[in-house]
Amino acid sequence: MASMILDERDQQFVLYEMLGVEKVCEHPKYADLSIETFNMILTEARKIAEDEILPTLAQGDKEGCKLADGQVYVPKCFHRAYKLFCEGGWIGMSFSPDEGGQGIPESVKYAAIEWFYHNFAFIAYPFATEGAAHLILTYGTEEQKKKYTEKMVQGLWGGTMALTEPNAGTDVGNLSTKAIRQSDGTYKIQGTKIFITAGDQDLTENVIHPVLARIEGDPAGTKGISIFVVPKYLVNEDGTLGRRNDYEIAKIEEKMGIHGSATCLINFGDNNNCYAELLGEEMQGMKIMFQMMNEARLAVGLQGLCSASIAYLHALQYTKQRLQGSSLMEMKNPTAPRVPIIQHPDVRRMLLWMKSNVDSLRAIAYFTAYCFDMHKIAADEAEKDKWLGYAEILTPIVKAYSSDIGFRVTETAMQCYGGYGFCSEYPVEQFMRDEKIASIYEGANGIQALDLIGRKLGMKKGTYFMNMLGLMGSTVTKYKNINELKDLADTVQAGVNALADMGLYLANCGKAGKFLVPISNAYPFLMMMGKVVSGWVLLWQAGVAKQKLDGLAKQNGIDPADKTALAGLAKSNKDAAFYMGKVAGAQYFIRNVLPEVDAAVKAIKNEDMSILEIPEESFSS
Ligand SMILES: Cc1cc2nc3c(=O)[nH]c(=O)nc-3n(C[C@H](O)[C@H](O)[C@H](O)COP(=O)(O)OP(=O)(O)OC[C@H]3O[C@@H](n4cnc5c(N)ncnc54)[C@H](O)[C@@H]3O)c2cc1C
Repeated sequence: MASMILDERDQQFVLYEMLGVEKVCEHPKYADLSIETFNMILTEARKIAEDEILPTLAQGDKEGCKLADGQVYVPKCFHRAYKLFCEGGWIGMSFSPDEGGQGIPESVKYAAIEWFYHNFAFIAYPFATEGAAHLILTYGTEEQKKKYTEKMVQGLWGGTMALTEPNAGTDVGNLSTKAIRQSDGTYKIQGTKIFITAGDQDLTENVIHPVLARIEGDPAGTKGISIFVVPKYLVNEDGTLGRRNDYEIAKIEEKMGIHGSATCLINFGDNNNCYAELLGEEMQGMKIMFQMMNEARLAVGLQGLCSASIAYLHALQYTKQRLQGSSLMEMKNPTAPRVPIIQHPDVRRMLLWMKSNVDSLRAIAYFTAYCFDMHKIAADEAEKDKWLGYAEILTPIVKAYSSDIGFRVTETAMQCYGGYGFCSEYPVEQFMRDEKIASIYEGANGIQALDLIGRKLGMKKGTYFMNMLGLMGSTVTKYKNINELKDLADTVQAGVNALADMGLYLANCGKAGKFLVPISNAYPFLMMMGKVVSGWVLLWQAGVAKQKLDGLAKQNGIDPADKTALAGLAKSNKDAAFYMGKVAGAQYFIRNVLPEVDAAVKAIKNEDMSILEIPEESFSS
């Protein structure tokens, strides 16, 4: 039966027909793996997602988290799912076997976890643990790795990332948590962290917090920040648990969504006895934490995709069942039979808009993960750098574009449900509530946009950006000779050219002293680039699909240009239906959404400064 979480056929299409991720198995690192292994992993992921994780989505939302006597209790229904999740070895599955993982490629890992991220409240616990464990594996001493990571990868101990403070949200450099050196080489931590996901829970026997703090006397700003490992229970030499560390969970935030995820306010060191170990070197905290932040940015982008996917599939099912109004052809006949709302053009518009966005977000996320695989296994440094460059450029797009579009898809799904969508009896309102946070945490989307234009475009003197444009151009060249795709390919190329032109334009503004133009237009630029990248992956998919569709048409004695005959074939042939959907989605997006890029170009080139010129007093009377 088709899943309501994600379109499994599309997942397979992106992995194997579009990206060809099985190519990684030619490398000795992945030589023991094969498509069969990948599919086995994905089948198991679907099973645990549908049998155990999805059923806790609504229940976890209702129950929420509780704080009693300093201990957080997660929704009861999470316990069984969490135990099975850990036993299945899903935490750290891409870690190497000697780190406790299974050494699977990032692209396959992303596909597997796409099954889980629709329930971000649940997945936040193992996800935060994986990131924290990875940080210790990368930067910890041998002793720290031995002491902490084995139990974290097994899910017996949890993990977090503790950056944010009341006066240090976006401005992390402004943090005031301090670390005091001790004579034995350890530290004592004092300060308050807020909004800490999975800050405490009753799923594991210990919690390991990577905490950002400033060692007394170190410089202000991000430069002076170090990172520490702060366990809930100190760990004795023999691995048993020692005393409860000196910190207190003071509060769990009451939130709009992801109610099952405990978002904690933590007071460290009220009794001057909060034990901490330095991770890596002093004053390297931000550099080290960036590994976890980058992983989290991709994960939050995936949250956008997963929310969009589950919302779209539910809306699609609803529009096929809900009868309302009559066919357009019988508008004037009051006794005409009522039809499913999927027959109304405006509903079809919403559905195809959602479908094309879900498809493109999935392709962008998997491609980015695939770039990390290729970066790892590429034969020489230049190749490695090329793949890293694509990933660098795409990371803020995955985080910000996917989370914003993901939210808009959930909102459009609600629109398809009409009034019922607004009611908690139906699931879409939860999808929308749970997704909203994705544009805010892990660096709000406006900050991602500044990262894209301020840092990423100029990386390696602009080579990464130019390589990305070149890659998109090569897809256009590959498919523009297919008759039915020619106009789509031309439009995508125009979008790529607009990006190149805009990159230059913004750089020139900077050089001419008009640096406020790029800064003020960072977000419109990010969204513009997200649309072009989406158009590119959809064209790529349409190219692959069109060739397969032509083959199917020929096998069935149909003229590939005969749309009516193809639609007839699609009724009985699932592959034909799927490939037609790919071409239609690309056509819709490239013809209807991509033109928004022209408007963005026009708006940015106006160099309008009203957002800066308006006096603060004039925003409201
Ligand atoms: C549910 C939830 C879970 C979270 N989990 C964690 C966690 O596990 N660990 C953790 O450390 N933190 C966590 N956070 C904190 C989260 O990362 C911050 O909320 C986020 O970084 C924004 O910080 P802030 O809320 O202080 O907003 P502010 O920094 O006050 O920003 C408010 C708005 O102003 C904009 N803004 C601020 N400064 C600038 C600037 N210089 N330029 C342009 N725009 C700017 C922002 O983009 C944002 O839109 C979580 C938050 C929530 C709500």
